[in-house]
Amino acid sequence: MLELRDIQTYYGAIQALKNVSLKIGEGEIVTLIGANGAGKSTTLMSICGVTPPRRGDILFRGEPIHRRSAEDIVRLGICQVPEGRHIFPQMSVLENLEMGAYLRRDADGIKRDIAEAFERFPILGRRRNQAGGTLSGGEQQMLAISRALLSRPSLLLLDEPSLGLAPLIIKQIFEIIKQINVENGTTVFLVEQNANQALKIAHRGYVMENGAITLEDRADALLSNEDVKRAYLGI
Ligand code: ATP
Repeated sequence: MLELRDIQTYYGAIQALKNVSLKIGEGEIVTLIGANGAGKSTTLMSICGVTPPRRGDILFRGEPIHRRSAEDIVRLGICQVPEGRHIFPQMSVLENLEMGAYLRRDADGIKRDIAEAFERFPILGRRRNQAGGTLSGGEQQMLAISRALLSRPSLLLLDEPSLGLAPLIIKQIFEIIKQINVENGTTVFLVEQNANQALKIAHRGYVMENGAITLEDRADALLSNEDVKRAYLGI
């Protein structure tokens, strides 16, 4: 579904991504793990057109997208939940969800999808009229994921959804990500420092160090890989 071929992304003179290649198949959950500053967020931002690569290709369903605008890329069905969530703090929960559907014109479908979001996260339903900024961190993450789903993405990009959340909430968020993948058939690319949880729900994973992919394998194989255990799983 998505293929990165030797992409190189820069911030000015600084090269953040060094020939990154990876593939994400239709229906998969693929995770990208790595330490702080490895280049994980830059990989996501390169895909969604915020920091386009200077060299290399990004193909979505066989079509090059690396020269398209960020808005065009959303229209193609790729939606990112950024690190730090970035919900609209002054808007209500309901208005935040409606913003996620800004490219859609099917009012009935939008209504159905909002009802589904409230079914998936009942706490959001109970807080539908509350300002987004007053939600807890975990609730804001639920809202950010739900808002992304309102654009009906075929590929959902998640940047560190577990960041700063309590263990019980993290568990719930990962279960929901798995559920979205299974029930909606949404393909998921999950960037995480919480390698253990991410590899538990993913089909495959890539390890990134200093802007380059150093390892790729099935998620269960990475979970039992000695180097991965030592470096990323704290074992
Ligand atoms: P984290 O988990 O801390 O977000 P990451 O793996 O997502 O880390 P990136 O945020 O992609 O890493 O950063 C990769 C490299 O690019 C780092 O060395 C970082 O300092 C640098 N970098 C990121 N954003 C910028 C920017 N706007 N300007 C200059 N350098 C940047």
